[in-house]
Formats: sequence, structure tokens, C-alpha cells
Amino acid sequence: NRRVLLKSRPQGEPTPANFDIVDAPLPEPKDGEYLSRTIWLSLDPYMRGRMAEAKGYAANVNLGDAMVGGTVGQVIKSRNPKFKEGDYVVEYAGWQSHAVSNGAMSMKLDPNAAPLSAALSVLGMPGMTAWWGLMKIGKPKAGETVVVSAASGAVGSVVGQLAKAHGCRAVGIAGGKDKCDYVVKELGFDACVDYRAAGGNLFKEIRAAAPNGIDVYFENVGGAVQAAVVPQLNDFARVPLCGLIAHYNEMQPSPGPDWRLLLVKRATVTGFIVSDHFTDMEGFWKEVPALVKSGKLKYREDIVKGIDNAPEAFIGLLKGRNFGKLLVQVSDD
Ligand code: NDP
Repeated sequence: NRRVLLKSRPQGEPTPANFDIVDAPLPEPKDGEYLSRTIWLSLDPYMRGRMAEAKGYAANVNLGDAMVGGTVGQVIKSRNPKFKEGDYVVEYAGWQSHAVSNGAMSMKLDPNAAPLSAALSVLGMPGMTAWWGLMKIGKPKAGETVVVSAASGAVGSVVGQLAKAHGCRAVGIAGGKDKCDYVVKELGFDACVDYRAAGGNLFKEIRAAAPNGIDVYFENVGGAVQAAVVPQLNDFARVPLCGLIAHYNEMQPSPGPDWRLLLVKRATVTGFIVSDHFTDMEGFWKEVPALVKSGKLKYREDIVKGIDNAPEAFIGLLKGRNFGKLLVQVSDD
């Protein structure tokens, strides 16, 4: 069993030295458990919080334990009647090539319904995050302007396309020309602002892309992008506060948003954690799989091969090196 362990807690940016890659004997399933081989491992920004000393909204990873993470695997040995050998499952096996599970958190996957990896992107946690945050908190109305940061990524790409499907103007903010071109030309957003190239003109470029102001700001990053967006919120704007990735490696908290502006705009800012709502996704299942199947909702994967490359890929995720949903292919489909 190839495993990536948390060796030490990062001070600022994670480095390869924070991880240990080890070989361990294959675990044996006990009564009620099954053993799976991991096919796909999802790398997600929240994992930075799990590496930290301070407890976040979920328990952090203990030093010496395998890093946690969502996975798609195949059952190879089973002592649980609900899971047969050969079944595909979406589960939470973490950064390792094999894992035993009691199945409590596992869901069977039909390999013919969609590519297996989609269960970790558009048809899984990031897709649900986009849908929940936009539809339940953003409540977009046709004709409104929706702005989303980290727009080319797993969550942001879905937010903008859903906003378009609901008749809104969709404006992305992303790092680099390639990502912005993709967001507009492939995904069909109305505009995209390259925050890395904009420098001191960020405010003006967002204004040009959202000339009627911003009704919904789907917040994924914080930092300079947030500072440029908040003054451009319209009255009664909604801000689904999904993530603040620009701050995840900070050692000291940096200044937050200008609350006075939020008051004056009578804006609603609502933080949310998608896992609180996993059992309340009826609307997601009604809307998103059909959009994906018809090709109206596109998604992009950034695939890294081999579990040994997970640490480097994860470090890159926190710097915008990924282009699309970051996945590790641990073994063949
Ligand atoms: P992405 O696929 O969007 O990848 C992360 C992207 O964030 C990078 O590609 C990069 O894009 C951008 N980024 C990285 N560092 C910075 C930085 N310093 N400043 C600005 N942008 C940066 O990841 P996800 O779609 O999986 O996640 C997007 C956000 O959603 C994250 O904040 C994440 O924590 C949050 N999230 C929240 C959930 C919840 O339940 N609340 C659930 C899932 C995700 P670029 O090059 O364009 O800057």
C-alpha cells in the first residue's frame, strides 16, 4: 500500500518536506469492511486546512497519518454484503493506493453513467459546492450580473456556466490569459478579468466587465480580488462565501473586507460548507447531470499521474498552477 503521510505541519506554503511517502502492507478487511484500490484521488484546497495545527471546521490530520481526501476506487475484496468485488465507489480513502472501509461514507458508482472521475468534480463535491452556493445563497435572477473568482477551476467554472443557464451575465476572474480565454471561449462566460495581468487596474477592469455592477459575487479567493469587487456590489447583493484561497498559506490573518461597504449596500454575505448539505442536493441532481450530459455544462480536468506526485500537485494548487479540477490518477480505470 503506497501512502502519503503528513510528516510535519507547513509554516506558510506547504513543501515536499511536509509529506512522507511510504510503502505499507495491504490492509485486510474485517467483517463488515471492504478493501478498495484507489483509481482517482481528488486534490482540493480545503486540504491545506487539514494540514494545519489549528482545528478548522473538521478535524485536522494527525502527524504520521495519511492525508485525507475524496477518491474513486474499485472494491477488490469484500466482507460487506453491500459492496461486491468489482464495484466502483466514491469514498474518502485519502492519499493512498488502497484502503479498507466500512462503507458508511461510500456511494456506489455506475461506470456507464459518466466518467468515473466526474464523481470528484462536476458531479461531485465541487459541482455541488457551485450549485449550492450559487442557487441557495446567490439566488441569481435573469438579467443580473454574477462574478466568480477562481473562475477556471473546479467550482468557479460550474458557477459561471450555471449563472449563464439562468440568464445572468457571468463574469470570471482568473489568473492568466489561457485561463481567461478558456472561461470565455470554451465555457461561454460573458467576460473574464485576468487579475494577475491587471495589477493596479483590477478595479477598472472588473467595472468594464460588469458595467451594471455586481449582484452576486461568488467568493473563492479573498485578497486583492475581493478588495476590488466589494465596492462594486449593487444594493442587496448576495455573496456566497465559499473559499478564501489567497489566505490559506498565511501565517497571520490579513485585513478582511470593508464592512462599512457591506452595510451601505445592504449586502448578504453567507459562508457555507458543502458537506453540511450533501443530503439536501435534490436540486443539484435534477439540474446538473442533465446539463453535463447535453454538453451545455463543460468541465476540465488537470490530471497528474501517480500518487507520489500528489504533494507537488497539491502545492501547485495553492499557487494556481492547476488548470481545471486537479486529480491524481492512482491506478487505471
Ligand atoms: P480550483 O480548481 O479553482 O483551484 C484553485 C485555484 O485557486 C487555482 O487554480 C487558482 O486559480 C486560484 N488561486 C490559488 N491561489 C490563489 C491566490 N493566492 N490568489 C487568488 N487565486 C488563487 O479549486 P476549487 O474549485 O476546488 O476551489 C475553489 C475555492 O472553493 C477554494 O477557495 C476552495 O477552498 C473553495 N471550496 C469551498 C467549499 C465549501 O464547502 N465552502 C467546497 C469546495 C471548495 P487562478 O490561477 O485563477 O488564480
